Amino acid sequence: MKAAIAVLPGDGIGPEVIPHAVKVLEQVATQFGHHFTFRTADVGGAAIDKTGRPLPDTTLQLAKESDAILLGAVGGPKWEGLDYPVRPERALLGLREQLGLYANLRPAKLYPMLADASTLKREVILGIDLLVVRELTGGIYFGQPKGIEKTPEGERGFNTEVYTTREIERIAKVGFEAARKRRHKVTSVDKANVLESSELWRRVVTSVAKRYPDVELHHLYVDNCAMQLVRNPSQFDVLVTTNLFGDILSDEAAMLTGSIGMLPSASVGGKVGMFEPIHGSAPDIAGKDQANPIATIASAAMLLTYAFNLDKEATTVEQAILHVLEQGYRTKDIHSEGTALVGTQEMGRLILQELGR
Ligand code: NAD
Repeated sequence: MKAAIAVLPGDGIGPEVIPHAVKVLEQVATQFGHHFTFRTADVGGAAIDKTGRPLPDTTLQLAKESDAILLGAVGGPKWEGLDYPVRPERALLGLREQLGLYANLRPAKLYPMLADASTLKREVILGIDLLVVRELTGGIYFGQPKGIEKTPEGERGFNTEVYTTREIERIAKVGFEAARKRRHKVTSVDKANVLESSELWRRVVTSVAKRYPDVELHHLYVDNCAMQLVRNPSQFDVLVTTNLFGDILSDEAAMLTGSIGMLPSASVGGKVGMFEPIHGSAPDIAGKDQANPIATIASAAMLLTYAFNLDKEATTVEQAILHVLEQGYRTKDIHSEGTALVGTQEMGRLILQELGR
């Protein structure tokens, strides 16, 4: 197949890890007879430095014209003093909004050889294989009214949690469809005992479930879910939840597996999907050849699956990652006694070499 991929490295470790994912995709194209073209553009702080805006029109245009987007990370201390509308992180919200990416998929799967990198006991985390489906374009991050206003008693900050039936229906469908490709179980997470928006959420998800009789549906309150994720995480298959709850729970789920440097994500729903590691720009390790490129390479594997339906190619990439880990190579974030410490460049090279075998 022929496909155009927009590459947005961004800031911090973004430009360090992205080239390894691009090389992996190039190698996949060669091995499987595909033709991928790559075009790179600035996003986040790098774009602010050049144009004054985190998401320049040229970058958005490139994203819209492409078949998929591979993104590194944005942000860093240099831009922290800027106003919210021109901060690097606004670029992500802008891309999601402009491309209609309403569903964020975050798998959290434990590589057994990394069980000791988790802060939880081995017996609790063995067998974790879950997918958090987070609603991405609605809820409290976008709801109106919002702002900070002056009142006679001092300032007042406010945001609004809003969900419509349509928004809940479409994210629920993504969850049920994903569960059909997995273990046929959906857990919908809300706060229906307190929030009216959650009451509607629960009602609509229950109604959508009727179209998926082969998928088991459970409802959990978000506080209970946060607890269950630590107590018995392997009970979960697909978790479907709102923007705010998903933001928090997906980070919690991520940490169960040990390192944030291992986990990929996909944002889908519109014509063009966006694929990126879940971690940020990691300014503390940027430029030190310490970043783990696996999350970004695994994001490239998700790109193959969700953007192009190339499941066999994606599995080959995942197997290459697994084999390199089995051979005992580790970046600093997942390193433990008895394993071989390697840097970003070497880890990328090893995975590419394994892919070529
Ligand atoms: P972060 O994810 O950048 O880093 C958190 C910790 O994890 C750091 O100690 C970092 O060194 C480590 N880490 C992250 N990725 C790693 C990797 N691949 N390999 C090894 N270690 C890794 O989160 P933060 O420090 O809260 O944020 C830093 C900046 O990134 C901020 O400006 C924030 O706004 C931004 N951010 C961007 C995104 C994104 O682009 N999607 C996501 C989260 C944070």
